[in-house]
Amino acid sequence: MCSDSLRTKEPNIKLMTTKTNSTTVENHDSMFDSVLARLDVAAKIYGLSDDVTSILRNPQKQVKVSIPVMMDDGKLQVFEGFRTIHSTVLGPSKGGIRYAMDVCDDEVKALSAWMTFKCAVANLPYGGAKGGIKCDPRKMSVGELERLTKAYTVAMADVFGPQTDIPAPDMGTSGREMAWLVDAYNKVHRGNFPGVTTGKPVGLGGSLGRDAATGRGVMVATLSALDKMKLQKNEVTCAVQGFGNVGSHAARFLFEQGLKICAIGDHTATLWNEKGIDIKAALDYAKANGNVLKGFTGGVEIKPAELLTANVDVLVPAALQNVITEEIANNIKAKLIVEGANGPTTAEADHILNEKGIIVVPDILANGGGVTVSYFEWVQNNQGYYWSEDEVNAKHDASMKAAFESVWNNGQQYKTTMRIGAYITALKKVELGIKARGNY
Ligand code: GLU
Repeated sequence: MCSDSLRTKEPNIKLMTTKTNSTTVENHDSMFDSVLARLDVAAKIYGLSDDVTSILRNPQKQVKVSIPVMMDDGKLQVFEGFRTIHSTVLGPSKGGIRYAMDVCDDEVKALSAWMTFKCAVANLPYGGAKGGIKCDPRKMSVGELERLTKAYTVAMADVFGPQTDIPAPDMGTSGREMAWLVDAYNKVHRGNFPGVTTGKPVGLGGSLGRDAATGRGVMVATLSALDKMKLQKNEVTCAVQGFGNVGSHAARFLFEQGLKICAIGDHTATLWNEKGIDIKAALDYAKANGNVLKGFTGGVEIKPAELLTANVDVLVPAALQNVITEEIANNIKAKLIVEGANGPTTAEADHILNEKGIIVVPDILANGGGVTVSYFEWVQNNQGYYWSEDEVNAKHDASMKAAFESVWNNGQQYKTTMRIGAYITALKKVELGIKARGNY
């Protein structure tokens, strides 16, 4: 079995059990309620005032637009578009734009709040926002997607802005959509505003290192956690769920660092190989086959849920939200979970993982590498001078390591999990901003 012998070796650290500072929460159908549940737990443990808590429980601004788009067949289709600005206390709001069928008011609200906390954990001068369009990008032509993106940008032209609200890619979008967004924004505002969005293609104001940054950050967070657990990187095994922008880069970086990646998967196939999967071969295969793993023979096919409960030391959920449910959590064998995706663990599953002594490096820390390099991109746009990839990566790694340390230390100080430690790290900064600014 994949590195089974390691499991008998107890990590030489005190696991941060929170039996005193419990994270138990009730069931939540709404994603935003689940964010609030964690916020409330962290606020209580940290001792955040009711005033600041109630400001953070309510997004600052929510915009919903309807976007009529002429489809290739000559018929008009009206799409729903969203943008929620959760907070601008620490700076312009920052956060991606998601294209998916489950995009809704509740999801965008939840993701926008996470961006506030993620940016604060990463020590960036930003607030948090998120946007999205309810659509199935896989079923749309490139022309339809371009018209949709440009129409959405025009509808949001007064919301977005290089000093007010700065979008970026998220699920279902990439540099291509960001280039369309800049083009439409520039036309409305009659100028050149590369800093209105990040995650742009290199050559159009994009930053070297941005594409791989979220995966790179997951790697830095994983190594930092292994260090605390006194585990050697070349002795641990790992499963990575998701082979898109986050999962594929995370798997590659971890593989390059010497971890044995025993399981990988995307929406088309999930593969297991106890001897370790050749990630370079998997990447080459996916690149040549429509960016999917279906048909790759570097491992045997297993069921998607089996990846999450596989016999490995490190689990990296880097695909969808809410995949680690109570049932899955009960069966997880990994001793470390590093959340590449946003919200992969339900609030209820958190409690079980904590009881089992599993360390969870939470999303708002683990996947903060993407927005960190987005910030570097925006800085480069503002100064009109561009950095080398090595420079970007060095700044990124230092920033991720510092964020990891603050979260770890807050977790220890407040005798709680890393997730609540991350929220406390963020709350301290946002609280400072709210108090310093004052109220009307
Ligand atoms: N969508 C990414 C996230 O959830 C990146 C956001 C950004 O770069 O603004 O962190």
